[in-house]
Amino acid sequence: MPLKYRSLPELRRDIDTCNLELLSLVIKRAKLAISALQFKDKVTDDVFDPERQLEMLATLVKANQGPFSDDTIVSIFRGIFQHILDLMSQERKTTLKVHRKQGDPDQIYEINGHKIGDQPIYIAGPCAIESEEQLDNVAKVLRQHGVIFLRGGAFKPRSSPYAFQGMGERGLKVLRDVAHRYGMVSVTEVMDPRSVEMVAIYADVLQVGTRNMYNYPLLRELGKIDKPVLLKRGFSATLDEFLFAAEYIVAGGNYQVILCERGIRTFTKETRYTLDISSVPLLRKMTGCPVIVDVSHAAGRTDILEPLVAAAFAVGAKGVMLEVHPCPPVARSDADQQLTPEEFVKLKDNIHSYIMGNLPSD
Ligand code: PEP
Ligand code: MN
Repeated sequence: MPLKYRSLPELRRDIDTCNLELLSLVIKRAKLAISALQFKDKVTDDVFDPERQLEMLATLVKANQGPFSDDTIVSIFRGIFQHILDLMSQERKTTLKVHRKQGDPDQIYEINGHKIGDQPIYIAGPCAIESEEQLDNVAKVLRQHGVIFLRGGAFKPRSSPYAFQGMGERGLKVLRDVAHRYGMVSVTEVMDPRSVEMVAIYADVLQVGTRNMYNYPLLRELGKIDKPVLLKRGFSATLDEFLFAAEYIVAGGNYQVILCERGIRTFTKETRYTLDISSVPLLRKMTGCPVIVDVSHAAGRTDILEPLVAAAFAVGAKGVMLEVHPCPPVARSDADQQLTPEEFVKLKDNIHSYIMGNLPSD
C-alpha cells in the first residue's frame, strides 16, 4: 500500500487520474481496432478474428503479475474486446457501399426508358408463367391501366420438390415476348448462380427470392451483371443481414439493387407472413436503394391488399408487387393470393382514395 498519501481525498485524486488514463487508453485501443477495418474485406472478413483474440489474451495472461487472477484478466479484457467488436460492427455497417452517406439522394435506375426509384410503380403479373396465353391475358390489362413492370416466375422455388417448378427457359421466352409486345419491363426470379447469364439474356430485372437471400454464390454472380436486381428480404432475415446480402451484389460492381420487403415469419396465422412495414422507412434511412413491398406474398390472401398497398406507399415504398392471374383458382402456384386482372384494376383505382384519406367503406 502506498504510504505517501496523507488523506483519502488526496488518494482519490490519483484514482480519478488513473480512471482518465484508463479511459483514454480504451478509446485509443478502440480507434486502433476501427482503423484495422480498412485492411479487412467488408464482405468476407469477419470483424471478429478468434485466433487473434486468443493470441492477445495469452499475451496478457503471460504479462499478468497479480493481484488479479488470470481468469479475471481474461474476463476484463474479453469485456473490453467485445465492446470494441460491437463498435467495429456498427462502424462497418456505416461504411458499406449500400449504406446511404449523408446527403446521398434516392437512387433511380432507368430500364428501357422507364424509371424505378422515382414515382411509385406497380410490379404485377402471375406468380408463375404457365403459358403465353395466360401471361398475355394479364399483361394486356395491366398495360392498359398504366402498369409497366410485368412479373412472372419461370423458375419457381417450391417447398415441395413435386410441385410445379416453372416452365424454365421456355417461360423466359414467353416473358420476353409478351413484355416486348406491350412495351413492358420484365421481372423474373433466378435461383441458380449457373442460370444468371441465361436469365439476364431474357429479362430486364432479375429477382432473388426470399429463400435465396442467403445464397451468396448467387448474389456474387448477380454482382457481375449490368441489370437491376430485385432482392427480396429473407423471411427470417434481420435488416442488417438484408443489407449485407445487398452488399454482396454491390461489392461485385452492380449498384442497381432494389430492396423488397415481402413479409417475415411470425406467430401470426391470419396472414402467410407478417408485413414488416417499419422496414421500409428504416431501409430508406439506411440506404439509397429503392425499397418496394410485395404485398401478395406477405398477406397470402387477397382481401387486405388494398390497405397494405396504401400503407406501403404511405411509408415511402417506391413500388409494390402484386400477383395477378387470369383465373386464380386454377393457378399452378399461390392460388389463394393472386388477384384477377379486374380485381387488380379496382385496387389500383381505389389506392388514390386511400392516399387522399378517403378510405372506401367495405
Ligand atoms: C415470387 O415473387 O415469385 C416469390 C416466390 O416470392 P418470395 O421469394 O418472396 O416467396
Ligand atoms: Mn408466388
